Amino acid sequence: MSLQRVCLVHYHEIGLKGHNRSQFEKRLVSNIKALLHAYPLEKIKRISGRICLFLDPEATYETACEIADHIAGVPGVARVSSGYRCEQDIEIMKDTAVKALHDVESFETFKVAARRNHTDFPIDSMELNQIVGAVLCRSFPEKKVKMKNPDVTVHVEVIEGHTYIYARSIAGIGGLPVGTAGKAVCLMSSGIDSPVACWKIARRGAVCIGVHFSGRPETVDTSEYLVDDIGHVLEKTGCFAKLYIAPIGSYQRMIAEMAPPPLRIVMYRRFMYQIAEKIALLEGAKALVTGESLGQVASQTMDNLLVTNASVSLPIYRPLIGSDKIDIINEAQALGTFEISSQDAPDCCTLYMPRNPETHAKLERVEAIEAELPFDEWIQEVLDSLEVRRYACPSYREPKQSEKA
Ligand code: ATP
Ligand code: MG
Repeated sequence: MSLQRVCLVHYHEIGLKGHNRSQFEKRLVSNIKALLHAYPLEKIKRISGRICLFLDPEATYETACEIADHIAGVPGVARVSSGYRCEQDIEIMKDTAVKALHDVESFETFKVAARRNHTDFPIDSMELNQIVGAVLCRSFPEKKVKMKNPDVTVHVEVIEGHTYIYARSIAGIGGLPVGTAGKAVCLMSSGIDSPVACWKIARRGAVCIGVHFSGRPETVDTSEYLVDDIGHVLEKTGCFAKLYIAPIGSYQRMIAEMAPPPLRIVMYRRFMYQIAEKIALLEGAKALVTGESLGQVASQTMDNLLVTNASVSLPIYRPLIGSDKIDIINEAQALGTFEISSQDAPDCCTLYMPRNPETHAKLERVEAIEAELPFDEWIQEVLDSLEVRRYACPSYREPKQSEKA
């Protein structure tokens, strides 16, 4: 009997994208293929509006669950179901349905949903529902059939000469496949907000390139390790390609020496944004991403955001601008970065922090002070001293030389 473990990846949002659909499907397939390279997979194929992962014959139930859990966190995946592909033989199909339902950890109610894509199989879907349903009722006498909102649906699908039977199903994180929306440069402190902001943009299909400004040589390099750890968490979903580390401690010291204390933070941030924009241009990225949220701290008032925005021409995406901290914390926990972000590290922004930061900075004033400083020279020095870490990101493409110019 040839019974093969399969995972079916559902991706309904992609279905809405008209003629882009096949491009999106191809991207999702290649992302999944690359992310699962270490797992025992025989092949990956698009079947009837889903992506089907065929597991090696020796793959265990645990491995199948591990694969499903991993794939559920990949942008573009709406749902992952695990089950079996078997022959179009009603006796085998009955046994397989029992096996598939045994794979579900806990449930009270179930129903069968049969579908027949090929009429060359003699039993129609209504009859299949009844036959398989009857077998399951006998095998699981303590469970109840429920047609509306059951805990589990046992799918029996007759497609292209085989039958796919699955019951275990977990929700995916949704969104769009990474690589369908271009590149974005994400400003990553080692704090709670920025990884969540990065992740939100990644979920809409962007390849993320991180930039971290460390206080080195004025502080230790702890934050660099924390952001690297965050990079590895994001890497599992295939969205994080590179991390640029920019040690700016000495420049912060010089800004602090020359700028009025209340304006220091706004000036650090304009300095950081401009460096990030230069990196974006090098990478061919079309936006900067930050974890700012309106009014959260002094630098995130409307006036101050206006002044920082004015230092660059690329758009700045702030996916958390309207989020409360508590919601951001919940999202960081779900993403798996909260623990890392909660560790203490001297942040370059806390270095030379003024006691009373300006909350209503004026652009002309800030620009006038900046004009007295060799900002462009400093920015170039930082760009020359950038350090780069790389992560596995299947859809990342190095910028073409012509784009770098
Ligand atoms: P976070 O949790 O992201 O650190 P925060 O509440 O500490 O947020 P700020 O320190 O004001 O807020 O930073 C706002 C945003 O500016 C961050 O979300 C991040 O995008 C960017 N940023 C701040 N510090 C750095 C840094 N050292 N390196 C790179 N980006 C930074
Ligand atoms: Mg911060």
